[in-house]
Amino acid sequence: MEAKAPPTHAPMTQFATVDSELLIGGLPLSRLAERVGQTPFYAYDRELLRTRVSQLKAALPAGVKLHYAMKANPMPALVAFMATLVDGIDVASGGEMKVALDAGGNPQEISFAGPGKRDAELRQAVAAGVLINVESFRELDVLARVSNELALPARVAVRVNPDFELKGSGMKMGGGPKQFGVDAEQVPALLARIGELKLSFEGFHLFAGSQNLKPESICEAQQKSYELALSLSRHAPSPVRFLNLGGGFGIPYFPGEQHLDLSPIGDNLTHLVARAAQDFPLASLVIELGRYLVGEAGIYVSRIVDRKISRGQTYLITDGGLNHHLSASGNFGQVIRKNYPVSIGNRMGAEDTEIVTIVGPLCTPLDILGDRMTLPVAVPGDLAVVFQSGAYGASASPQRFLGHPEVVEVLV
Ligand SMILES: *Cc1c(COP(=O)(O)O)cnc(C)c1O
Repeated sequence: MEAKAPPTHAPMTQFATVDSELLIGGLPLSRLAERVGQTPFYAYDRELLRTRVSQLKAALPAGVKLHYAMKANPMPALVAFMATLVDGIDVASGGEMKVALDAGGNPQEISFAGPGKRDAELRQAVAAGVLINVESFRELDVLARVSNELALPARVAVRVNPDFELKGSGMKMGGGPKQFGVDAEQVPALLARIGELKLSFEGFHLFAGSQNLKPESICEAQQKSYELALSLSRHAPSPVRFLNLGGGFGIPYFPGEQHLDLSPIGDNLTHLVARAAQDFPLASLVIELGRYLVGEAGIYVSRIVDRKISRGQTYLITDGGLNHHLSASGNFGQVIRKNYPVSIGNRMGAEDTEIVTIVGPLCTPLDILGDRMTLPVAVPGDLAVVFQSGAYGASASPQRFLGHPEVVEVLV
């Protein structure tokens, strides 16, 4: 049998290098580390964020609004920067809503989703004037009471738990029983209730899944979301002004994965925008993206503190790992652990000559950043870089586990 070459990571060409150093925000990595004053840190590159949004806007029809789902990366400076690039911000808690408002996000273009919204959060959202993606009958009753008390009509959209899912997604968030949204079959009753309570109905939010690299699956989910919204809109108390078709655009993390091809998605959305002009003449179509906007613009940098060989296997031990970057350790929803792309950021271009396992400093075998990767020879003091780290990093990690220092985040 012919041996097949093992799959490799998509090349991380978004960052340039100079004199064997990775460049981020125009700075060589070791200089940036001095500027930050510590390792580990996350660094996010403004120019890459800007380019990503402009490339995306060029690939999608002008009639589609682009929202940033800030759950992916809630760093306040980054959210403020993103607020200048996108059309709106999606928040999933009162805490995120505060960051989005502080960032200068226009409340008209902020939407608030999430199961289990507390009464106090709903009240804040009504006072702020943001759009609330309602996910239960209870939320409607709370909103009716709050609207009366504040003499402000709550702006509501219905988050629908669709009767389908986004096929081939890293994380499924629709189809079957789910804690998110209201089952499509219960939505007509919910819409009737919105009418009775005289809340301001604005539209629908459908989110079928996340981290998808198959354009045909994304197009199919968008089509089905559109059809479902169209049939549900017959029960709506007022015209649809806002139709959020979800997102789910993925980025390549693991060997064998490729960058998402946007052109079929752009074509599909062009078609839907044209239909919407007839079916929903007052509505904006929205897509909401998290990791696709920010994931590739960020790196996680830790310093190698030790190097040792155990029964023939070489370990590089760094000053941070799972406590700062749960996703790269493989413990944030992955079924089988796979390596993120990793480099030695001050030895770029050097030949990959040894197989090493890069681990963090925690006393748990789960703390792995790179398992048996082929890299240039690295020594204590060198900088290990984990790419594709701009989303679900610091804020999605158990920083207090094992009592190491917290990670620093910089936007450069
Ligand atoms: C998590 C989430 C997103 C962002 O997902 P990404 O995979 O980061 O794009 C968008 N919308 C909703 C409703 C979410 O829960």
